[in-house]
Amino acid sequence: APVTARWPVMSTVAELSLPVGATNLPRLQPIVAGCFDAVENRLSFFRETSDIARINRQAGTGIPVAVAAGTADVLAQALSVARESGGAFDPTVAPLMRLWGFRGGVTNLARPAHEALGGTLALVDWRQVTLVVTAAPPHAAVHLARPGMELDLGGIAKGYAVDQAYDALLREGCSVFLVNLAGNMRGRGAPAAGRRGWRIGIRDPLQVQAGAWLGTLTLEDGEALATSGNYERFVVVEGERVPHIIDPRDGQPARGLISVTVLAGSALEADALSTALFVLGVDQRRTVLRAHPGCGAVYLTDTRPPRLRVTPELHGRFRPAPGWKTAVEW
Ligand code: ADP
Ligand code: MG
Repeated sequence: APVTARWPVMSTVAELSLPVGATNLPRLQPIVAGCFDAVENRLSFFRETSDIARINRQAGTGIPVAVAAGTADVLAQALSVARESGGAFDPTVAPLMRLWGFRGGVTNLARPAHEALGGTLALVDWRQVTLVVTAAPPHAAVHLARPGMELDLGGIAKGYAVDQAYDALLREGCSVFLVNLAGNMRGRGAPAAGRRGWRIGIRDPLQVQAGAWLGTLTLEDGEALATSGNYERFVVVEGERVPHIIDPRDGQPARGLISVTVLAGSALEADALSTALFVLGVDQRRTVLRAHPGCGAVYLTDTRPPRLRVTPELHGRFRPAPGWKTAVEW
């Protein structure tokens, strides 16, 4: 079996896997951990000194905030996915997250009042984010138009962090590895002779036992995988589980899916698209996937019985587990 280092980061778990017999894990793990820490320092919603917290404090003041080039890059990509998805993905979703009880730690909340919802929705609008990139220093600056607006890159930052680690490992001359940050994965090479790449089991969220899979996908060189779901992080509102992905178009928790797994050419794309597709559902996916050729998705629908829907890009690649074969709609 491959050798794996596992450590806590961003209130979740990170992993670096190398092929059988690799001896450089102790040297490479700190490099990957360093990438994750650097991204968290820049992009965390909670760290007061992060670029994101600094931008949020100046919302509505008219004062643009100078940010690192990397921050500007992730934000630009977040805004592209926002445009492609008609606002289903929106990096200014934070006020809605708060309204629904995330960022708080309360468990049994009441459904937000109609008036509160309307006021909060007015603060969630990616078109009111100004990103100015210039040739001269500070190179990039960001401003949010209205007081109370807040950026939250939680739907894209882990993917970006995985890409940063991927690039760092390539610079180290590493040719076979798998990076995993809370289910955001990107692989290079294959861990054993005769394999096309890293074979990944997609967890079955309906089974409590570990090791139950919906199926498997093999990550070929440089490909990435991410899953968004309503089963790991949620709050309870009037006895009902509310997923931590909100539909910014109506302010309601996203419905209709249990999980969506996206295969993409980079971890940032996989992460952002899995969040976007979780909101859009099976039928509204096309404009987003058209903008990202080669990306495909496996959906687990919140129906009785649950169904697996696989987009054409993943036909012949997604292999359902025996128990799920009859539930697949290709
Ligand atoms: P995870 O954080 O479990 O990996 P996701 O990548 O799907 O899952 O990201 C969920 C996070 O994305 C939320 O915690 C929140 O920060 C943010 N988010 C929630 N709804 C949206 C949305 N509609 N658009 C963009 N980001 C969102
Ligand atoms: Mg995401």
